Amino acid sequence: MIVFPDVIDARRRIEKVVNRTYLDHTATLSRLSGNEVYLKPENLQKTGAFKVRGAANFILKFDPPGLRKGVITGSSGNHGQAVAYAAALADYPAVVVVPEDVSPAKVAAIKGYGAEIVHHGNTSQERIEKAEELAAEKELTFIHPFDDPWVMEGQGSIGLEILEDLPDVDAVLVPVGGGGLISGIATAIKGGKPDAKVYGVEPAASNSMYRSLQRGKVTELTAINTLADGLRTNKPGLLTFSLVQEHVDDILLVTEEEIKKALLFLLERGKLLAEPSGAVTVAAVLANKVPLQGKKIAVVISGGNVDLRLVGKLIGG
Ligand SMILES: *Cc1c(COP(=O)(O)O)cnc(C)c1O
Repeated sequence: MIVFPDVIDARRRIEKVVNRTYLDHTATLSRLSGNEVYLKPENLQKTGAFKVRGAANFILKFDPPGLRKGVITGSSGNHGQAVAYAAALADYPAVVVVPEDVSPAKVAAIKGYGAEIVHHGNTSQERIEKAEELAAEKELTFIHPFDDPWVMEGQGSIGLEILEDLPDVDAVLVPVGGGGLISGIATAIKGGKPDAKVYGVEPAASNSMYRSLQRGKVTELTAINTLADGLRTNKPGLLTFSLVQEHVDDILLVTEEEIKKALLFLLERGKLLAEPSGAVTVAAVLANKVPLQGKKIAVVISGGNVDLRLVGKLIGG
């Protein structure tokens, strides 16, 4: 379990290696939704997504001798990129297990940071198992993409920055895949401003956290079909699930059509390039799924690593 002071420590630890992203009021989204809406663009983070916060915290917190042989992870791309980046800064070798259908942009970026790539399977489960197997075989340190306290603490630094920039925030919207990002942010927000709401957003076509909360236990999806490749997790983690149960007010669901619209809206109106996973929160605002009026809402755009050919198709279609 992680608590508020852990997130404060993590933020200090990673301050020098991650970007302090801004929180910007948006007039258009505010007018459309009847709230005061502020965007937190983690697409402008190092490596193009928030995941570098968790990976850097893990690598900087881990006892160095244990890491010398290197680190390994299984990730659909952004966590892999984050681990590769943070490992390179600390001068450790890194191996990243990616799915067979990973986007070429993500592979190029991971290789660019000097990490070795292994292609395996299609589900998060399959590549995590492969990474754990290789970790044992090669004596590498495994870094889980979400179900790890140090990773969650690092992601939580986003919540502290939001509290600093908007001390009277009423609600925070966070994309949910495995739940590491929202676990960290919710720990920070509920620790610093207990009456603020924290809402997760999932694609309706990949809603494992939503279903798990409804059933009161970790629930695995068998079919996932969403454009949001960073949110294609078939089940939440045990740690993330219990933190979400404790701190998160609700999970909102968005359709694929709403995600596409939000991505194009951010590009055209906000001059921000988000990936589909990063745009689900804006999709929830645009589709009026946030059960609030007249409130100050911070909206996390979690990443911007998207294949431009996909963006071209969305614009064309
Ligand atoms: C990983 C990721 C998420 C989901 O984060 P979790 O910690 O798995 O919930 C959301 N957006 C982007 C861009 C990601 O890379």
